Amino acid sequence: MKQYIRIEISQLVGIMLIFSTIGYLTGQIHLSLITAMAVYFAKHGYYLAKLASLIESEEHISPPYPPDIWGLIYKELARHRMRSRKRKRTLNRFASRFRKVATSIPDGLLMLNKPGRLEWANPAANQLLNISWPRDEGISITQLLHVEGLKEYLESPDYTKPLEFSSPVNKAIILSLRVTPFGSKKAQRLLVARNITELYNLNQTRRDFVSNVSHELRTPLTVISGFLENLSDNEMLEFQKRPFHLMLQQAERMNTIINDLLTLSRLEMGKAPSSEKPVYVPNLLYKIVDQAKALAEQKGGYDITVDVDEELCLVGEENELLSAFSNLIYNAIIHTPPMTKISISWRREGERACFSVIDTGPGIDQQAIPRLTERFYRVDKARSRQSGGTGLGLAIVKHIIGRHEGELRISSQPGMGSQFDCTFPGEMLLDKNQLQQQQEAS
Ligand code: ADP
Repeated sequence: MKQYIRIEISQLVGIMLIFSTIGYLTGQIHLSLITAMAVYFAKHGYYLAKLASLIESEEHISPPYPPDIWGLIYKELARHRMRSRKRKRTLNRFASRFRKVATSIPDGLLMLNKPGRLEWANPAANQLLNISWPRDEGISITQLLHVEGLKEYLESPDYTKPLEFSSPVNKAIILSLRVTPFGSKKAQRLLVARNITELYNLNQTRRDFVSNVSHELRTPLTVISGFLENLSDNEMLEFQKRPFHLMLQQAERMNTIINDLLTLSRLEMGKAPSSEKPVYVPNLLYKIVDQAKALAEQKGGYDITVDVDEELCLVGEENELLSAFSNLIYNAIIHTPPMTKISISWRREGERACFSVIDTGPGIDQQAIPRLTERFYRVDKARSRQSGGTGLGLAIVKHIIGRHEGELRISSQPGMGSQFDCTFPGEMLLDKNQLQQQQEAS
């Protein structure tokens, strides 16, 4: 930079010297100085005009560059232009690669702008959703895709669960739609529609199979249990007593498993709870705790504390909630030794409500925690069987809480106890007054 300023100053001094000498010799000093200034400004005018035309033409700027300050400007402009050309080439290459990838992806991709209008879609979107780009560009997604619950889903802040629906192109195709916000302030959204027909049908077959088998087993089991109960009224020889007792016990166990499997199937079939009504949760909890205390006594006594917000109620299906809450409370007694401290609470947590069961029992291994809600998963199979567990309890709890828009959180550490939290969103909550008003109205 300094070098260019030096050249610029020496050029100016040179012009002034030459013209002042000419002025001195000709006796026209003023005219010569004015001419010197005119020459100097003419040079700048020339390079300025050239710069303007270079900027306008977007041509490649190549050496030789002027030796003065203009040389520096031209050189910098040339470098900047080269860099932006390179960046443009990279961007173009990237965009074309992205287009190729997006075209070959079997999932339907839709890009929506802030107001939810289509900006771009890949060819698979046409095959799966009958949405074609650029034909449908600028049209609102809710106009393009007539799917029940789509508008509410897109407006909701939570996209963790996908939306499943039949393809408008072919009703036999089941699609799973996921939404990912992106861009500045995450105002734009990328919608990914995946064909999950195979998985869906497989799940459906599994559900039907479990439900049918459970139903089919129920009748013979009822007959067996009935006969066993009748026989138990008769006198028995000593050697017959133990096998007979075992038969009764196992029949009862099978009955519990079948009932739990049927409950799970029923929960999986329907989407929302069958009869959503205001539920006065405090009474429900007192009822469960009273019954659980009887079991706790039988097992040798537990230190059970209950902390309930008397004003806090929930909209939901009472029997389902009773089943979920009692499963968690009974688990805390069944899977912990006598004299364990068990704290049960029902309280507000900001906008949400939370039902918690905390125990100081043996706790659960970290690796086992994510698997607890799987069907038939038990940390200690033998012990759970002994205590009459089916391994289906937490799977049922998770389903019920999910159907009430809630979330089941499990935290535990071996030797430190376990905590089971069920949180429910604000929309599902009522206070006692609202509950009374609703009950009076109905
Ligand atoms: P189960 O019928 O065996 O109780 P669940 O699905 O209710 O089946 O629970 C799954 C497993 O989780 C149980 O077998 C037990 O190993 C573990 N578990 C559940 N609750 C607790 C608890 N409070 N403390 C320790 N382990 C527990």
